[in-house]
Amino acid sequence: MKRRIILSSGNKHKVSEIKDILKDTIFEVVSKDDLGYTKFDVEEDMDTLEGNAFKKAEELHKLVGGIVIADDTGLFVDALDGAPGVYSARYAGEPVSYKDNNNLLLKNLKDVPAEKRTATFRTVMAVVMEDGSRIMAEGECRGRIALEERGDKGFGYDPLFVVDGTDKTFSEMSEDEKNKISHRANALMNLKKKLEEASEGTGN
Ligand code: IMP
Repeated sequence: MKRRIILSSGNKHKVSEIKDILKDTIFEVVSKDDLGYTKFDVEEDMDTLEGNAFKKAEELHKLVGGIVIADDTGLFVDALDGAPGVYSARYAGEPVSYKDNNNLLLKNLKDVPAEKRTATFRTVMAVVMEDGSRIMAEGECRGRIALEERGDKGFGYDPLFVVDGTDKTFSEMSEDEKNKISHRANALMNLKKKLEEASEGTGN
């Protein structure tokens, strides 16, 4: 029997990526929006990805119970000492668009040559189980920041992130291609193992 996991995110790209990656497991993903919690939102004011991810998962768990999953992602650029990092969503201030963030990143890297534009996407997946116990998994993807935006798919910093071992930005890849190698995919693969172990423990 499938076990339902409630996703504490309304970001349609993330919802579709996470549903796709967990589709062959015993877990069935529904988003908070599917359950009518469209207005549920959490201030991401912690100073770590883990802190924000668990905050998002626990606040929703208090409302709906069940198994809740939340993720937090940051882009860590080596030449900027890890910025924007945990502040990736609001890098250019607030209110902000993906375009504003990307423009600021390009501006801050304008004197940095191609070989020094290395960066890492990091994702933390946080799960709160029915009984309140916690499971955490991490994933990353290495790459470098392009000199200008390329491609029209994906979201966020995707048009600027050239994935190591390819010449493509995430925005130049299909959703399927991105979902095989992305930071979120890697975090979910790690999480999948941990969830299956936890389920075996309960006999479900
Ligand atoms: P969040 O708090 O996990 O939603 O992520 C913070 C910010 O990182 C988002 O607003 C996006 O700008 C960016 N981000 C998260 N995941 C991705 C991704 O897969 N590709 C590109 N940018 C992303």
